[in-house]
Amino acid sequence: MPDYMFLLESRLSPEQRAAMMRVQELSAALGFNVYLTGGTVRDLITGASLRDLDFTVEGNPSKIARELEKGGAKVLVEDEKLRQVELLFAGDCDGSISAARDDHYVRPGTRPEIRWSTIMEDLRRRDFSLNAIAISLNPASRGLLLDPTNGLSDIERAEVRALTIHSFTNQPVRLLRVLRFAARMGFKIEPRTQEWFDLAIERELHHTIAPEDAGAELQAAAREERPAVVLKAWEEHDLLEAISPVLAKKHPGYEAIGRLMKVREDLFTAGFRPRLATPMLLAILGRLKDREQGSLLAKVGFRSAESAAVLEFEEAALEAQKELLGKKMKAPIDAYRFLEKLPLDQMAYLMAESNKSAALSKIRAYLNKWRPVRLGLPGVATQLEALGMPRGPKFDNVVEQVFAMQLTGRGKTPEEREKILRKITGIKEQPKKKEKERKPAKGTDKAHAAAAMGDAAKHKHAAAKADAKHAAKGKPAPAKPAGKHHAPAHRGKSAPASKKRHSRK
Ligand code: ATP
Ligand code: MG
Repeated sequence: MPDYMFLLESRLSPEQRAAMMRVQELSAALGFNVYLTGGTVRDLITGASLRDLDFTVEGNPSKIARELEKGGAKVLVEDEKLRQVELLFAGDCDGSISAARDDHYVRPGTRPEIRWSTIMEDLRRRDFSLNAIAISLNPASRGLLLDPTNGLSDIERAEVRALTIHSFTNQPVRLLRVLRFAARMGFKIEPRTQEWFDLAIERELHHTIAPEDAGAELQAAAREERPAVVLKAWEEHDLLEAISPVLAKKHPGYEAIGRLMKVREDLFTAGFRPRLATPMLLAILGRLKDREQGSLLAKVGFRSAESAAVLEFEEAALEAQKELLGKKMKAPIDAYRFLEKLPLDQMAYLMAESNKSAALSKIRAYLNKWRPVRLGLPGVATQLEALGMPRGPKFDNVVEQVFAMQLTGRGKTPEEREKILRKITGIKEQPKKKEKERKPAKGTDKAHAAAAMGDAAKHKHAAAKADAKHAAKGKPAPAKPAGKHHAPAHRGKSAPASKKRHSRK
């Protein structure tokens, strides 16, 4: 048996790992058994990216949610009846915690009665075998795989298999789900499941999909990595109508979806992981008139605030574009500050849809030039520290000034940056030792330099003294390029030296 715990830990981001450890601890403290379940386990096994962490506890997750909130997690949706919490863990990591439950159908197709249950019953009530696998997070069995419906072998065979003959009757939304998973994963539908699927279509069960369930699937499609393959699978089976007849008639905006996918790639390359569900939803609905979009969202159960967030999104993005093109954004630093705060999904939308080249070139500069410079800013700080300026608000201000200059193309090399730093701070290059001994500085110059240098100079002076002390005691001075008292050209090297100076205080 592969070591699932090892697999999991090696695949989780640091934030996801922290979230998992916390849920594990809290569950243990409350005496609940806890498992990773559903999509998380499926994606782990298939090697797909782990988008979110789905936990199932044998108990009520609300206490765990309260504790997580104290640690900075945000509860997005809490369904007290279903004992299900969707959250954003600290560090922007998506997840859910659900109570283990069994759905008991008095007759196929009736609303299920909920019974709190063990993990095994919970797994058996799920939709497809590939979604019905769990990994134990309990101390005595950590890493153990629970697979009561043999999902692992279906994954190996690349098949989506429903768990009972009543699967589609009990929940017709599974007609959309089975196609979504098969399309997303490139899997076949298992032959018997296909028969049940065909039978359900023959009986027109797709017309009985609850509007909110259809809405949830539409949202799920917008969150897919490749929404187009899912939408096409639904169209091929004439199931898009189950979501919206207007959408089925006018078709999803495949071109707009394609543009947004390309933008997502560009954002990935620039080091971002944007959440594009809203612009993707708009791309899907792009061929519909505004009022058609509004009525579609209302029909599939979007609450008015949710609808408004989608429908006003475009307006907000265009407003941002206007600002970006305005007079106030002439200096790159101002455009940088603005773009830094602009929600990534709005930026992505503009990248995909805008025809204003001036706005686009600013966004491109932000992603490909300005951000990398920003990420290199700790190097400038190290350089400044090595020049002898103590950290603090003034220090930060100098670093920001250098950053603003860098955005205009200045300070490309460490030497240029040092010059700029000296100019801003007034920290003079120390004359070479021998010269100093030979030719003491004029009183007026000295006073001027001291005033300009302020604290920085004092600090630097103290450091020089400390160096001298080392020399007097016959100890080697901290590592520094020989004969140089100013910052070394390589940022990396200057850090330990300046740190040591501080610690000697
Ligand atoms: P995704 O990667 O799209 O989030 P997921 O498998 O996590 O996929 P969710 O809709 O988040 O899908 O549901 C989480 C889990 O809950 C599923 O893996 C499945 O086990 C179970 N589930 C969801 N919807 C149903 C349903 N209609 N019937 C039975 N089980 C369901
Ligand atoms: Mg999920």
